[in-house]
Amino acid sequence: MTDSAAKAPMPVAFSDLRIAAYCPRKLYYRRREPDREPPESVAERRDLATCYPDLLAADDATLRELPIDEPPPRYRRTLERARDRLDCWEDLVDPTARNVYLTGRECHGIAHKVLGDPPRPSIVSPGDPPDAGVWKPHSVQAVAAAKALAWERQRPVESAVVEYPTHGVVRTIDLTTRRKAAYREALRSAASLDGPPSRIENDAKCEPCEYASECGVRSRSLSSLLGD
Ligand code: SF4
Repeated sequence: MTDSAAKAPMPVAFSDLRIAAYCPRKLYYRRREPDREPPESVAERRDLATCYPDLLAADDATLRELPIDEPPPRYRRTLERARDRLDCWEDLVDPTARNVYLTGRECHGIAHKVLGDPPRPSIVSPGDPPDAGVWKPHSVQAVAAAKALAWERQRPVESAVVEYPTHGVVRTIDLTTRRKAAYREALRSAASLDGPPSRIENDAKCEPCEYASECGVRSRSLSSLLGD
């Protein structure tokens, strides 16, 4: 075995890269959890991405029974716009494969869909989309999936898709230099984690973080209440 092979880092999970892109310290806490499976509600929300034609045809009462985070008319309009705008809509509805485990040189994990030719992965988020584009952690996760897919297929993969099905929002991304740099930074953070990294100073991220009390951060609103 060569020195470089002996030192080759273990591939990092896509989900760890996503969390490292959010906050490396959060990944430190998450890795200490005995059970890292997502709750059932996450699967229910992601499942919406498997039935877009049914959702487009559903009446308001049916949509209200589903884990959809928009009023039914607005949800339907957003989904219709995605259908009319996206050149990959047919692939999204009927992908080449679903929930595919991909293994790359540096990372591994599940691509929720793999679309046709040219091949590209789709990551399905159970959460809310930003006003434009995709959140940085999802961008990093999508780049990781694209890189793993490229490694498996031995061909370049230069774009990916991120779906936010609880809002009917689908966004495509190109693997730009900036996105690849963010992926590399998350990879370095996740691969080198051997103790708690510094806290980030970001109320927008820390306030909803489930480790906020363990981490010891106080939100700005709490600090001002306490007279800081
Ligand atoms: S509370 Fe903030 S600093 Fe602490 S783990 Fe969460 S996001 Fe990171």
